[in-house]
Amino acid sequence: MMTEQEFLKRLEGIKAWDQRGKRAPHKPLLLLMALGNIQRQEPDLRFKDIEARLGDLIVEFGPSGARKNPHQPFYRLRNDGLWEVRAPHGVDIRETSSGDARITDLRKAEGGFTSHYDTLLRSKPDLIAKAAKVLLDRHFTPGLHEDILMALNMAVERRTYGKSVVKRDPKFRSMILTAYEASCAVCGVAVTMNGISLGLEAAHVRWACHDGPSTVDNGVCLCAFHHKALDRGALGITEDHRVRIAPGIEGELAEAMFFRYGGEKLREPKAAPHISREFLGWHGEHIFKSEAA
Ligand SMILES: [Zn+2]
Repeated sequence: MMTEQEFLKRLEGIKAWDQRGKRAPHKPLLLLMALGNIQRQEPDLRFKDIEARLGDLIVEFGPSGARKNPHQPFYRLRNDGLWEVRAPHGVDIRETSSGDARITDLRKAEGGFTSHYDTLLRSKPDLIAKAAKVLLDRHFTPGLHEDILMALNMAVERRTYGKSVVKRDPKFRSMILTAYEASCAVCGVAVTMNGISLGLEAAHVRWACHDGPSTVDNGVCLCAFHHKALDRGALGITEDHRVRIAPGIEGELAEAMFFRYGGEKLREPKAAPHISREFLGWHGEHIFKSEAA
């Protein structure tokens, strides 16, 4: 039991920030990938097999300009006390001056949880789910959890998913819907069924897992589609409350759903403070994808 808790504690301690203080969820994404691998009862991850896939995940769920550098977490995770990199006999993994491994060496190597934790995880499927939950709760806003699990081809049942690590304020949703008179602050959709709002959500601008408070000045009422777009960084909000659209968006109805709102003023909350510049600044720096991938 002690070992389980110790393992989850180590996972909680994983840092996901780079030297400049920018969100860098490279390690959590690699760990989730490794958990999915164990869940499917597959052997350790060979770096050359996952290099491209991990790079894509970093771009998809990391901040704007997150470089595709999957070799960094793969090698650096060894310092967190739960990961090891193994090279076949006769292969030396040489380090570069930045403390990373040479990619050509790493491509011959495998990585995974240290054998102690690997054995533990393979014998306890519910620990895999708990571990995934810890990583998701710590590093990603709830609206993205399903997307990430799907991208990793991981099955995590709600039942085993357990309680959130991050405490949420149950009043947040009603407070935000009231402030915005139950309509999407971007598109204005305000559809009800039998008098109950349909598809409206309260979004945190600064993520709750990254110290964003559940207050009106850190919240915005959005329809499910624009909420997802905000969480994925497809949609941003300038400090003077105008809608920003990320590059790289295209497709049927992209004009109707996105482009027509670009530069438009966000609907203001009634008798409540508008979103604070501090939280908009955080979203702009860590979530909004200002650069094309
Ligand atoms: Zn909307």
